[in-house]
Amino acid sequence: MNSISFHPSRLLRSRPRVIAAVALFSLALFAARSYPLEMNAGPAHSHPPLEPASWPDNSLTIANLGHATLLMNFFGTRVITDPTLFSHVGMSIGSILTIGPKRFVDPPLTPARLQHIDLILITHAHMDHLDLPSLKALPKSAVVVACEQCSSLIAPLGFSDVRELKWGETTVVNGLTIRAMGARHWGRRWPPLGETYGFDSYVLEKNGHRMLLACDSAQTDLFASLASTPPDVAAFSIGAYDPWIYNHANPEQVWAMFQQTRARYLIPIHWGTFRLSKEPMHEPMQRLIAAAGIQQDRIVIRQIGGTWTLPASIEKRQAAGR
Ligand SMILES: [Zn+2]
Ligand SMILES: [Zn+2]
Repeated sequence: MNSISFHPSRLLRSRPRVIAAVALFSLALFAARSYPLEMNAGPAHSHPPLEPASWPDNSLTIANLGHATLLMNFFGTRVITDPTLFSHVGMSIGSILTIGPKRFVDPPLTPARLQHIDLILITHAHMDHLDLPSLKALPKSAVVVACEQCSSLIAPLGFSDVRELKWGETTVVNGLTIRAMGARHWGRRWPPLGETYGFDSYVLEKNGHRMLLACDSAQTDLFASLASTPPDVAAFSIGAYDPWIYNHANPEQVWAMFQQTRARYLIPIHWGTFRLSKEPMHEPMQRLIAAAGIQQDRIVIRQIGGTWTLPASIEKRQAAGR
């Protein structure tokens, strides 16, 4: 899925985009009518309220705010990924209305309760990842690290430090090193027309601890390149595979990619929040747990609004040279 600010004065100049938007909206309406409502039934989410102000600076704490939005304290660097903080994602008309899929789980935190943010990470320009109203609500003092071409969408919102990374490029924000790498996905914001944007996965590293944030990806061997210095934790998108299997891996494929990275823990994202595809809302998590079998303890943060902290035993082992 894909959002863009709508300015009536641009209507005539952006006619192809408008046509594409109308086509997409019609498709979305059709899709919503096609998916039975019982597919949304799932277990109620219960978890302690999130208190990011209390997260220590000497550890890695991560919360799932829904869809691809993770809020982290990465050893003192405060990060949010692909922020979607409101009731809808899709085509935004000013800051008044967003036309597109509606959330099934309320946002666990309002923007005012996110606390300080050093870094906003944007993997790609699809509307469920580069959400303009959410970016508008975040502090403009944050550094934004984004995919190629994406600064043209982000900088006009008032961010003064927007850094585009090509695959293989690196930047540092408050001691956190961010390296961009690929994925098997795509970047066009207004399919089938309009501009093509980049798409990045990111490897984050600080204090000898490493995390993979995989961009929405279909099955690929690309992440096996991390196995020589495996991440502590990897976040993979596990939903939106039916019928989009050529752009989004299914849970069994995600488990295989995760194992290839040799990461210790898996954080599943991109499930249970916005209906973008035909599979039932909670099927991705159920299939992932089944795929993991006796190793299912490696899957952490199984609820939207859930929090996880890197175990102290891992921190000690790594401080001692692994
Ligand atoms: Zn995508
Ligand atoms: Zn997505």
